[in-house]
Amino acid sequence: MSNNNTSSGHLVVTVGAGPAGIYSARKLAEAGHEVVIINRDIKPGGLVEYGIYFNKHKLKEGVRKQFRNILADPRVHYFGHIKIGQQADLTLDELREILNPAATIIAAGAQGTKGLGLPGDTAPGVYHAKDVVYHYNGLPPFSEREFLIGQRVAIIGIGNVMVDVAHWLVHVKKVKEVIAVARRGPAQRAYTDVEIQAVSANIETSALQAELERVRARVEAVDGNLEAIYQDLTKHINIKAKEGESPTSMLFRYLCAPSEIILGENGMPRALRVENTELVKRGEDLSAKGLGTFDEIDVDTVIFAIGDRVDETLGLPCGGTEYVKNPNPDPDHPGNEAYQVFDPAEGKICSGVFVIGWSRKASDGLVGKAKQDGERGVVVVNNYLAKVEPGSAERAAEKIEALRQTLQSRNVRFVDYSDIQKLENIERVESEKRGVEFFKYFTDAEMLAAIEEITK
Ligand SMILES: Cc1cc2nc3c(=O)[nH]c(=O)nc-3n(C[C@H](O)[C@H](O)[C@H](O)COP(=O)(O)OP(=O)(O)OC[C@H]3O[C@@H](n4cnc5c(N)ncnc54)[C@H](O)[C@@H]3O)c2cc1C
Repeated sequence: MSNNNTSSGHLVVTVGAGPAGIYSARKLAEAGHEVVIINRDIKPGGLVEYGIYFNKHKLKEGVRKQFRNILADPRVHYFGHIKIGQQADLTLDELREILNPAATIIAAGAQGTKGLGLPGDTAPGVYHAKDVVYHYNGLPPFSEREFLIGQRVAIIGIGNVMVDVAHWLVHVKKVKEVIAVARRGPAQRAYTDVEIQAVSANIETSALQAELERVRARVEAVDGNLEAIYQDLTKHINIKAKEGESPTSMLFRYLCAPSEIILGENGMPRALRVENTELVKRGEDLSAKGLGTFDEIDVDTVIFAIGDRVDETLGLPCGGTEYVKNPNPDPDHPGNEAYQVFDPAEGKICSGVFVIGWSRKASDGLVGKAKQDGERGVVVVNNYLAKVEPGSAERAAEKIEALRQTLQSRNVRFVDYSDIQKLENIERVESEKRGVEFFKYFTDAEMLAAIEEITK
């Protein structure tokens, strides 16, 4: 709870209640600002709630506790179950018109998906990792969608998200094979030693040895000793996963770039066509260069785990996978430009609009990094607000009431923080009744019904 009793008179609106949005709200409230947080999901938390693997109870609950403190601050006004953007509940312009905020912060994460544009990649049985992660973590509507998962699942990418998805495939779906496919080599793995332990007991050592033998010449040309790489890749294989044993084989294919998803007669994946690659130096980095020779890997499901992009329909100018930031150094506060949204069509800064967290840099780092980025963003916002004429706490309250009325007149079923507290209480009681560590509802209808039941 903020210790500052003096109101700054400023109203700040933040879109998104993930770690970047919530941790930054604490700093904004401490500076005396009224903070309105608009969140697409009923529950706050973003990827803490719906991204981090569901058995990491301690980690999730630790962060939730901090979020609860921040969201209970009287200066922080939570509005959940409201999507901002084109064809959403409110456009960003409408939101800003109603609230007329002194500053607008976009902390909506990276909700778009990145694809490779391969033939066959829109077929059933081909998915983006984020959608799968949202599905198994219970985020509506993904939680209610059917995902057609076969027995041989290729995951494109070898980062921590690949490991999380593999974790689910190995220990929940218990598929026959998970094949992690990498354009680059084994030494360029992006997953960490801690994360891989969830599936390391399922790594097929003989298959791994054969795969390393297949790429030996290409790996040793740039990365040295293959035996040392093998030792590194297998150092956790004796660690048993918390969930016990699973029949799944965890396999790897290195130095091959997916080029096509070959579909069978049923219109679903039959094989993944890949081009063999070699590693070439590009500046400091090693990148994959196609060799013009191709292989087919038998698969019936393909999941892309190659990072995300921001949502282009939110209402901010986009370039590549990110929103456009000020390309010119801020003369007064060098570094601040990285948080300022820029309109290339107008050739100027979108005054008073800022990006933080994964909305600023898609798929960048863990919760700690999103927190740090949100807090750094607040410094930038406060530098800006120092030059803005303040309003008053009373005026801010009127604007918040105007937002409530507009939403009601449009029949938008939004929730506030007291609703979230009710929901969490009911879920706590349910988890005790069921004797499980944690219980949560997987549909909006159930969450809203639970809130309404207790409100009666
Ligand atoms: C699969 C996976 C596993 C991970 N595991 C870990 C882990 O174990 N440990 C760890 O520390 N980190 C982990 N991370 C990383 C961590 O979750 C992120 O660093 C962090 O959540 C990013 O925070 P954010 O606030 O920028 O975005 P997000 O967490 O994505 O939050 C964005 C929020 O914006 C809201 N929103 C989106 N669009 C709109 C809209 N149009 N209108 C209104 N609201 C909107 C969403 O509802 C959401 O609440 C993981 C990430 C992934 C993808």
